[in-house]
Amino acid sequence: MIEVRDLRVRYGTRTVAHVPELDVGAGECVAVVGESGSGKSTTLMALLGLTEGAEVSGHVRVCGVDVLTAPERRLREIRGARVALVMQSPQAALSPTTRLGVLMRRALDLHGVDAGERAMAEAVEAVLLDPAILRRYPHEVSGGQAQRFAIALALALGAEAVLADEPTSALDVTVQAEVVGVLRRLREERGLALLLVSHDLALVSTIADRVLVMKDGEVVESGAAARVLAEP
Ligand code: ADP
Ligand code: ADP
Repeated sequence: MIEVRDLRVRYGTRTVAHVPELDVGAGECVAVVGESGSGKSTTLMALLGLTEGAEVSGHVRVCGVDVLTAPERRLREIRGARVALVMQSPQAALSPTTRLGVLMRRALDLHGVDAGERAMAEAVEAVLLDPAILRRYPHEVSGGQAQRFAIALALALGAEAVLADEPTSALDVTVQAEVVGVLRRLREERGLALLLVSHDLALVSTIADRVLVMKDGEVVESGAAARVLAEP
């Protein structure tokens, strides 16, 4: 689902992210970990062609689209619909005066997805939320609920891959566990490919199959999660 070879992202003369190899298949979860500023977010955004102002080279294939060479029209197909981007504070990105149900309906229309009320409710139930949440406004839901709504939106759109950037860092511990539980179930039951960027090793150890460790823009370690995370 995600295939990266020798990805290099430069701002001016500085390489901020260099990833020799990264693969995430259907139903797999790969985590990118490392200190703040090590190039994790840049790597994730490069997968959607969203590193504005950067010079990007290498080979990036996401859901069959060659990201570095594809026309803008094809990139728009993967952004938002086939690949879901789950960020730290999804509430900030939602229009405060729009009910969640209206928001979901607009997103579905925008991407030409023909889904009825029933399908919308099912997507919401799949992330363990009450469909009544579709009648609420963004400020009326908690951070964890907003996070799960973002994932439900991805499901309704038929996303094949989820890119999550510190998806739980704004949440308290019990809510974090709920969001992670939902992500884990979805990758098992629906075969979603999951790429997770996080500095939270405890979280990563509960969900990732493989881990890439980044430092100063370079991958300094990679392999099976159990092995990489066990090292000092
Ligand atoms: P992380 O996600 O690991 O915290 P980032 O990928 O956000 O790291 O950032 C990696 C480095 O790239 C940082 O030093 C950051 O300052 C730099 N960087 C990110 N975006 C830009 C940009 N638009 N212009 C210049 N430098 C950038
Ligand atoms: P994080 O570390 O949480 O990923 P950052 O604070 O590094 O976030 O980046 C926030 C935003 O600022 C991003 O959109 C990134 O592209 C941009 N940015 C980061 N560093 C720089 C920089 N040196 N020059 C310009 N933009 C930057």
